[in-house]
Amino acid sequence: MRVQISVRGIVQGVGFRPFVFSLAAKHSIRGHVLNDAMGVLIDVEGEQSHIQEFIDGIKSNSPPLSRIESIHVSENLEPVNYSDFRIAESTSGGRPLASISPDIATCIDCLRELFDPKNRRYLYPFINCTNCGPRFTIIEGVPYDREQTTMRDFGMCDACRDEYLNPLDRRFHAEPIACALCGPGLSLVKGVFETDIIARVRHLLLSGRIVAVKGIGGFHLACDALNAAAVERLRRRKHREDKPFALMARSVDVIEKYCFISEAEKALLTSERKPIVLLEKQADCALPHSVATRTNELGFMLPYAPLHHVLLEKFDRPLVFTSGNVSDEPISYENEDALNRLSGIADCFLLHDRRIHMRADDSVTRVHEGREMILRRSRGYAPAPVMTSFKFAREILACGAELKNTFCLTRDNYAFVSHHIGDLENLETLRSFTSGIEHFKRLFHLRPEAVAYDLHPEYLSTKYAQSLDDIPTKIAVQHHHAHIASCMADNRIDGEVIGVAFDGLGFGTDGKLWGGEFFVADFFDAERIAHLDYVPMPGGAKAILEPWRMAAVYLQRAFGDDFVKLNLPFVQNMDARAWATLRRMISTRINCPETSSMGRLFDAVSSLLRLRDVVAYEGQGAIELEAVADRNCSEGYRFEALENGSVIKSETVIRHAVEDILAGVPPQIVSGKFHLGVAQLVASIARRIRDERHLRRVVLSGGVFQNMLLLQQTCRILKSDGFEVFTHSRVPTNDGGISLGQAAVAHTRISAGRI
Ligand code: ZN
Ligand code: ZN
Ligand code: FE
Repeated sequence: MRVQISVRGIVQGVGFRPFVFSLAAKHSIRGHVLNDAMGVLIDVEGEQSHIQEFIDGIKSNSPPLSRIESIHVSENLEPVNYSDFRIAESTSGGRPLASISPDIATCIDCLRELFDPKNRRYLYPFINCTNCGPRFTIIEGVPYDREQTTMRDFGMCDACRDEYLNPLDRRFHAEPIACALCGPGLSLVKGVFETDIIARVRHLLLSGRIVAVKGIGGFHLACDALNAAAVERLRRRKHREDKPFALMARSVDVIEKYCFISEAEKALLTSERKPIVLLEKQADCALPHSVATRTNELGFMLPYAPLHHVLLEKFDRPLVFTSGNVSDEPISYENEDALNRLSGIADCFLLHDRRIHMRADDSVTRVHEGREMILRRSRGYAPAPVMTSFKFAREILACGAELKNTFCLTRDNYAFVSHHIGDLENLETLRSFTSGIEHFKRLFHLRPEAVAYDLHPEYLSTKYAQSLDDIPTKIAVQHHHAHIASCMADNRIDGEVIGVAFDGLGFGTDGKLWGGEFFVADFFDAERIAHLDYVPMPGGAKAILEPWRMAAVYLQRAFGDDFVKLNLPFVQNMDARAWATLRRMISTRINCPETSSMGRLFDAVSSLLRLRDVVAYEGQGAIELEAVADRNCSEGYRFEALENGSVIKSETVIRHAVEDILAGVPPQIVSGKFHLGVAQLVASIARRIRDERHLRRVVLSGGVFQNMLLLQQTCRILKSDGFEVFTHSRVPTNDGGISLGQAAVAHTRISAGRI
């Protein structure tokens, strides 16, 4: 009999066809297999029982990197009398839905060869195979074939071609296949020429130099993490005031000298995605402070490109491996651009000539309650789709928010959430946003019929959405509704929930800046039940970078203008003239947007404790407030006006904090009581909504929930009170998750015919 088997899912570029080839041989089946637009198409003839075993084998033994989503078998086809089994040319055309694999870290088999002196790829820094190597970052088009990748710059040598064409070889159709004879090579710029480039770079690193290293998704800036002077120099040159640097270490054993690692964290570190994993720092951690100041955590990753393995092989110490950019610009990924932009930072450049087509930052993740909680979804993850429980009625483009932007394109049950684009505040990032959207549309053959975007009129993503004349259906989604919807889609839940969205800022339906919000929400709409009281943000965006302004505003709320007479270190250090100016701004309401942001309240408390008056990046005050907090407080500050009121007042919290500070209570305790107070606030409002609406599912989203102390306490209290609690796992709780939420809301409104 003859059947056609159509396999959908992540089945291209993951060794699926050779797997089918050997399976066919095993079951004496003739015919062919090819990559088609939908995935893989297998056309075979054989005895019925053999074909059944063959299909069972496909289901149960598929290659490690493949993800089968569906298998469809068409029977009763006219026989063609195939004489053998072969791997046929890919078909193109039609309107395909192909899955593109993310970049995969070097596999065990390749590592073994890499360090085997007898292997012809011994120490070759671009070794890869069917199960590993670059994918997303080198793919220019589909179907996934060498000609559609940046590897088309290199002709294969005979030895590589033999492997590539041999269905029984583990490099059969490994599109980036290469060796030292035919493939990409290294070069060192600004360094003394030597034959052994790697040895030279190692030496430079050990002598305190900063090296720009081209990797898979872009450049890194590397230096010896134990060399405080080198780390400080890098920090100075990069203008990266206080943001923690990521680290790379050869093995888990090296990381264990500095951090605690649980089994779940180890699994993430060693997974084929090789993300940066945030780990708790050991008290006696020997790394210099300048690696990551004022935090209890370090972000570590393991080598994921063969180049990293070769480079780190002899290091028993970690390297700083931070993104190759200046300040907040996108990372460099092209040689010329890196040589220009990073020339003031790096002492030398370790380059290679394999082009990166799509930039991809390292992903950042962590473990919460034994489950992955991703914070930046990029290399190793994108462009794999986030599967949804519902089927998208239309193809939708969701443009995301402004900061930590991602966009999202949908089809069927797939939400193709993009790699991390960055803060859409400059031309360069905007360009990667628009070109990224075009690239995804091409790769996945999508033609969005609707576009979803944030309500904020000034976001560049909003303006982009509004400029799309060819997509008439435009759906604006309120920022915090998108947060809640994002977390619902992340957890594959549906229906009405209690939604708690705490973040820095998002545009509200009343034109004010929200961020401390309680909703009854579903995918269709969000009803605002309660929120933090509005306070002015004198100077607008300036108040984000100067948390002391928020502290002064809250003090004035709690104590009136007389707060300046308080015997507080904060007040004594406050610039009275600057405050006088702010006071005028507040009373005349000039450049003073009103906000209900929980993030700003965290900023205020951090400044009140003299942790941070001015920050280098949004959220820094809150991060440092969390870092000092005593985790064992049993009493929390109480918020006010909860009975029936939808407005939550923070004055009592501020007053109690001030009383404690005046009584000499250490900042650790004040911070601890504040954290617990916020967690208790969530529980008390949730209880009220449960009583009124009979809802018991609570969804937590927004950037403030990156605060692990707050998240853990909130989950603990809610669960002990009988709530079912949902937090993020597959997409970020910060604005990186917004695009998924927008897509889900837009889909629901379209389906309901209400747009
Ligand atoms: Zn491999
Ligand atoms: Zn070769
Ligand atoms: Fe947000």
